Amino acid sequence: MITQVIDIGYLIAVVLFVLGIKNMSHPDTARKGNLLAASGMGLAMLATFFTPGLQNIAIILVAILLGSIIGYYMSRKVAMTAMPQMVSFFNGMGGAAAALIAIAEVYGIFHSPEAQLTFMTNTSTAYFYFGALLVSLVIGAVSFSGSIIAMGKLQGFVSGASVKWPMQKVSNNGLLVVIAFLCVWLFQMDSGQEPLIYLICLLGLVFGVLFVMPIGGADMPVVISLLNAFTGVTAATTGMLFDNKVMLMGGVLVGAAGLLLTLLMCKAMNRSLSAVLFGAFNSGSGAASDRDIDTTVREISLSDASILLSYAKKVVIIPGYGLAVAQAQHVVHELEKLLEDKGVEVKYGIHPVAGRMPGHMNVLLAESDVPYDKLIEMEAINPEFPQVDAVVVIGANDVVNPAAYLDPASPIYGMPILEADKAQNIIVIKRSMSAGYAGIDNELFYNQKTRMLFGDAKGVLTKLVAAVKEM
Ligand code: NDP
Repeated sequence: MITQVIDIGYLIAVVLFVLGIKNMSHPDTARKGNLLAASGMGLAMLATFFTPGLQNIAIILVAILLGSIIGYYMSRKVAMTAMPQMVSFFNGMGGAAAALIAIAEVYGIFHSPEAQLTFMTNTSTAYFYFGALLVSLVIGAVSFSGSIIAMGKLQGFVSGASVKWPMQKVSNNGLLVVIAFLCVWLFQMDSGQEPLIYLICLLGLVFGVLFVMPIGGADMPVVISLLNAFTGVTAATTGMLFDNKVMLMGGVLVGAAGLLLTLLMCKAMNRSLSAVLFGAFNSGSGAASDRDIDTTVREISLSDASILLSYAKKVVIIPGYGLAVAQAQHVVHELEKLLEDKGVEVKYGIHPVAGRMPGHMNVLLAESDVPYDKLIEMEAINPEFPQVDAVVVIGANDVVNPAAYLDPASPIYGMPILEADKAQNIIVIKRSMSAGYAGIDNELFYNQKTRMLFGDAKGVLTKLVAAVKEM
């Protein structure tokens, strides 16, 4: 009876996870989705307490309390721009948990004569069980160390550049073969082989580091998403081992969602997954660009910018990573409302990979209560640009770089962009002529229709708002 109650609790939790993910797919319902998924997790934890023969309840409660306090504190403190690092850290913890569970289980098998006897009788179920444990161990270890390195790269305590060494692919693949060989060898179940578990775990950790080090900064969010999918796989195998349906389903959902997100990000950047994994960022076609571009930079004063915007019929704001860094989401909303009061039609053009995580701009602008119907996706806004009087590019760079369709030699050639260059006038707000994430020059800034408004996005926008108010 009690196991049926637990199973029903788990079933409801899985349904809540699915509904949560479904709701997270739209900004309007994302908050609700988050709450639904979190309640699912709460319910799953609660149901687990009814497991017959559950031991160490006090330790579990202390761990839950500590985890909740740390999680609450981190979620309150984390800056929106540091979200990918936090996701990576949490993901790493999931991988570590799976690896530790696997070590504990394999240890248990080696130290239980009964379990060894089962293996000696060669039952296929026992081999399947043991194989799944080793998968959990290896992928969990890779996911843990890889996620911590990815977090370090984004946070700046590990070099964000792509670190390469001779015969990199050969050495990485060689290490994988060694790990696979050791795992197969372990199937002999000789108790003298126990140190091999720790060696396999150690090599998995080393592989995680070697796997992520060659990947350049711009590709980190993609890799984090892939590592997230790995952790999903370990959770699913662990769920299978313990016949824990909620863990199995949760793992499958995380694995599938992580993989889909990885592929979607690659598609939005027009890069193949192998190009991301083998650090081919900035390689371009290899052909030298023979395009002769006039690199004169034209600036605009605050008063001229305010006149241009106030007398425009249609304005499109293009936010990018710099808007998030400057935390200028509230003041940009103020500018939008002011212009609308003057009868200007204002929309936001949203690129799928603007910022540093998928949906970054949606989340940022939602924070300042910009209505969702003003956020127009790239495919929908692009045909409108020729009729737009003024585009205001704020802290965006790569996502508006016309080299993506004009210059076959460019590393971002083929990446879909917001076609700001087609608008009548272009104002670009950024601090300098520095490159964006892809590290390449942007010819939009030299376009005859472009005027630069240099400075920190928040500072410039605050002054622009004041200038528009005075008009
Ligand atoms: P970019 O990184 O291309 O450019 C951001 C620009 O913001 C910089 O050129 C910088 O110029 C400017 N900036 C930085 N701080 C400020 C500030 N305080 N005030 C004003 N401007 C500032 O950003 P985009 O959003 O255009 O493009 C995102 C990039 O990230 C793409 O290359 C994308 O492929 C990559 N990426 C995104 C992912 C995602 O999921 N969103 C995933 C993986 C990669 P300056 O220093 O001169 O101010």
